[in-house]
Amino acid sequence: MEHNCIFCKIVKGEIPCSKVYEDDLVLAFMDIAPINKGHILIVPKKHYLSLTSVPAEYLEAMMKIAPTIAQCAVREIDGDAFNLHLSNGQCAGQVVPHVHLHVIPRKATDGFNFGWRALTYEEGTEKDELAEAIATRIEKKLAE
Ligand code: 5GP
Ligand code: ZN
Repeated sequence: MEHNCIFCKIVKGEIPCSKVYEDDLVLAFMDIAPINKGHILIVPKKHYLSLTSVPAEYLEAMMKIAPTIAQCAVREIDGDAFNLHLSNGQCAGQVVPHVHLHVIPRKATDGFNFGWRALTYEEGTEKDELAEAIATRIEKKLAE
């Protein structure tokens, strides 16, 4: 547990939250400043800054419960769909330094836009070269 981490304090019960689900490994609670009402955060009960350091058992617990939590949130707000979102690292938008998976129920009429963009690769081999370089890294990483 990290001393100054707000989500660790929530996990320990030192700061209140509106809990929707808990098991041995994860806690899920309402986001205090939701994109849509019913926006929920799923966090591992142990402190990890980055998704890349979260052990498989916690990852599994987070992802396994996410569809159920999402479906129930969608039903409850009479929504149509949901987004799962995780900001990993500061420039990706991570503000709280304790890994958390956002579950955001969506309505066709909610007017929210993630601001997605669609760049293009140079004509030729740029995309395939990048894919190959990433694939090589993955292979090496998995062999470590
Ligand atoms: P991030 O930007 O790091 O992906 O998301 C952090 C999220 O945590 C934000 O959506 C923010 O509203 C939420 N949040 C920050 N502080 C608290 C808190 O004290 N309680 C709850 N329930 N949510 C919080
Ligand atoms: Zn923490």
